[in-house]
Amino acid sequence: MPQEKMPFTKEQLEDIISIYPTPFHIYIEKDIRENARRLINAFSWAEGFKEYFAVKATPNPYIMKILKSEGFGADCSSLPELLLAGKVGIGGEDIMLSSNDTPAEEFIKAKELGAIINLDDISHIAYLEKHAGLPDIISFRYNPGNRKQGNAIIGQPQDAKFGLTHEQLFEAYKMAKNMGIQRFGIHTMLASNELNPGHFVETAEMIFKLVVEISKNIKISLEFANIGGGIGIPYKPEDKPVDIESLSKGIKEKYDTIIRTNNCHPLKLFLECGRMITGPYGYLVSKVRHIKKTYKNYAGLDASIADLMRPALYGSYHHITIPGKEDLPHNRVYDLTGSLCENNDKLAIDRKLPELETGDIIVIHDTGAHGHSMGFNYNGKLRSAELLFRENGEIIQIRRAETVDDYFATLDFEGLKTFTA
Ligand SMILES: *Cc1c(COP(=O)(O)O)cnc(C)c1O
Repeated sequence: MPQEKMPFTKEQLEDIISIYPTPFHIYIEKDIRENARRLINAFSWAEGFKEYFAVKATPNPYIMKILKSEGFGADCSSLPELLLAGKVGIGGEDIMLSSNDTPAEEFIKAKELGAIINLDDISHIAYLEKHAGLPDIISFRYNPGNRKQGNAIIGQPQDAKFGLTHEQLFEAYKMAKNMGIQRFGIHTMLASNELNPGHFVETAEMIFKLVVEISKNIKISLEFANIGGGIGIPYKPEDKPVDIESLSKGIKEKYDTIIRTNNCHPLKLFLECGRMITGPYGYLVSKVRHIKKTYKNYAGLDASIADLMRPALYGSYHHITIPGKEDLPHNRVYDLTGSLCENNDKLAIDRKLPELETGDIIVIHDTGAHGHSMGFNYNGKLRSAELLFRENGEIIQIRRAETVDDYFATLDFEGLKTFTA
């Protein structure tokens, strides 16, 4: 039976649960820091390398502050995400706004914070100028169309709503240059949860070649190339983690043969990963509320897909450990359900597990990114708390669970009194 690393014992979890009732997401500071350092280390050859953490993965200021202290910036794509970065003390060009269908207020806020603005469309140059004024530095998101393969989650580039076409990209730099902008960068993001390091090497190669072409044709120099996020994590026990060191080595070879030989050095390399930064270091902890045996065996949890949407949205696998029962034979088959009135409210389907009982603790792995943040209130479900397992062993609550009052906060019960129906 496949086992995955557990950062806590059953006894530790019971202690935590006695203070913070299930369900909750818990993040492991030590592992997040070690992983962050490994990434930065792997790219130590790249002058000015920066990882802009994709805030949407885990928009919690405590997590962002930890990552800031490791030298990360913030990749934001909404006004609240920009405000969060500001609250954590991330500012200036440590923020990248990579949004799409962007409202004016995001451009205004980004400009105010001194963030790098990455435009998703050629028409946004004029829109940005009109609403926020032109920035010092501008970046464009490139969509290669059928020049490059995408991947399963993100789809093929020519079908993706993101970015500028090849032709538009050259036009956009020309326009920006003619408007007096003097600093430039380039961005692309073509994969999501991609486990093949070769994909990122190919993307870097494509972007580096483009940098050379743009520099020569438009006679500008580009300061950075942001090759996006999308580095995958091993959700399944048999998946292999992306070898960051070999990925980095592959990119360095392309950098040396394309950027250096064409005199486009220095070009700073940026990443904006979310999933690979925090994903494996977060866990959704839940308990079995009911065991139900009908045509199938169901374990009804106190968590649902409102706490972790990925299994319902993408059919994703999340590994599950039953603390205290790790070594028992996994000879039962269960669907692990939540209490939503939707039959796709299943955190696992046909999962081989040891025999479950009411009250068993269920640990769902790899929920540190795109987990809590994708939560929703459908069916009156309240979002769970988020906890942080600190390096010194302390457990702190970094977001409380929602209450019914939170759920009702946007409703007007005063007005209802005089509303006649
Ligand atoms: C979602 C997103 C990311 C992060 O993706 P991960 O899969 O979490 O690495 C980075 N950049 C942009 C523009 C995104 O939309």
